[in-house]
Amino acid sequence: MEKVKCLILGGGPAGFTAAIYAARANLSPVVYEGIQPGGQLTTTTIVENFPGFPGGVDANTLMDKMREQAKSFGADVRSGTATAADLSHRPFKVVIDGETEIEAQTLIIATGAQARYLGLPSEEKFKGAGVSACATCDGFFYRKRTVAVVGGGDTACEDALYLASLAKKVYMIVRRDVFRASKIMQEKVFSTPNIEVLWNCNTQEVLGDEMGVTGARLLRKDGTVFDIAIDGFFLAIGHTPASELFAPYLERDAAGYIVTKPGSSETGVPGVYAAGDVQDPHYRQAITAAASGCMAARDAEKFLLEQGN
Ligand code: NDP
Repeated sequence: MEKVKCLILGGGPAGFTAAIYAARANLSPVVYEGIQPGGQLTTTTIVENFPGFPGGVDANTLMDKMREQAKSFGADVRSGTATAADLSHRPFKVVIDGETEIEAQTLIIATGAQARYLGLPSEEKFKGAGVSACATCDGFFYRKRTVAVVGGGDTACEDALYLASLAKKVYMIVRRDVFRASKIMQEKVFSTPNIEVLWNCNTQEVLGDEMGVTGARLLRKDGTVFDIAIDGFFLAIGHTPASELFAPYLERDAAGYIVTKPGSSETGVPGVYAAGDVQDPHYRQAITAAASGCMAARDAEKFLLEQGN
C-alpha cells in the first residue's frame, strides 16, 4: 500500500491551490483529479473574474496553469476517482478506482459540487451554447439580450438579479406558485422591472439551432404549453456536493455539504480537511475555492508539525 503525507482529492481550483501550498511545504502531495480534470470551472469558457487576468482567461487554460504550477513544486498529479474511504483512524485509507489503495497521514477533500440540471436531452445538447449553470461565469455574454433562469431559490433570485443588470430581459421559470428564496431576495426580484416570473411552469424543451439557444418550451400547471424566445438558459436548481463517500465519518449539512469549523478547513476528524465547493454552499467561486485550498494545505501542514511528522 502506498503511503503519502498529504492526499488531495480533486483537481479544481481548491485541489490545485492546496497542492501548490502543500508541495512548497514539503508535504509531497499526491493529487487525484477525478472524472472532470480541472473541475467544474472547465464547464465554462472564459473566466473574467479571476484576479490577475484583465481581458479574461480561458477556463481550461487557467486550470492547466494551476496544474502545471502544482507539478512544478513537485505535486504528484494523477487521474482517478476515490471509490472508498476509511477515515475511522489515521493513517486514513482511500481506494482509487476500486483498486489503488493509499494510506494518507492527512487528507484534503476538494471534490467539488455538481450543478443540477433538469435532465432534458435538449438541455444537454446546448450546454456551453446558451445553456449554463453559472450566471456569474457566463452572464456577461448576454448583455442586452434575453435570458431565462430556472429555479425559485436564493441562487435563482441572485442569478436573475445579476443577469437583469446586464440583460435586456430575464424570465424566471418557477415550478410552483411561490419562491423558496428568502423574503429579501424575493422583494428585490419583484422590484426589478426587467424580471418576469413565470409561475407554475416547467421546461419541456430547450429550443435552438446551430448557433445555440433560441427559446424554451414551457408547460404551465393548467396544461398550457407555450414558447418563450431567449438567448440564454440558466439553471439554478441547486448543487450536489461530491461528499457521499465521506458521509459515515464527517458531518454534512442537509444538502450534503461537508461542515468545516468556521474560519478553517477542519472537519470533525483531525487530519481531514475540506476545501472548495464540497464545503461551500454560498460563494462557489474559483477564487474562494482557491483560497480555501490554501487554508486546507496550511491546516494540514500545521497538523503534521504538531504530530511530529
Ligand atoms: P435551493 O435548494 O434553495 O432552491 C432550489 C430551487 O430550485 C427551488 O426553488 C426548487 O423548487 C427549484 N428546483 C429544484 N429542482 C427543480 C427542477 N427539477 N425543476 C424546476 N425547479 C427545480 O437551492 P439554492 O441553490 O437556491 O440555494 C442553496 C442554499 O444556498 C440555500 O440554503 C440558500 O438559502 C443558500 N444561498 C443563499 C444566498 C444568499 O443568502 N444570498 C445566495 C445563494 C444561495 P421548489 O422550491 O419547488 O423545491
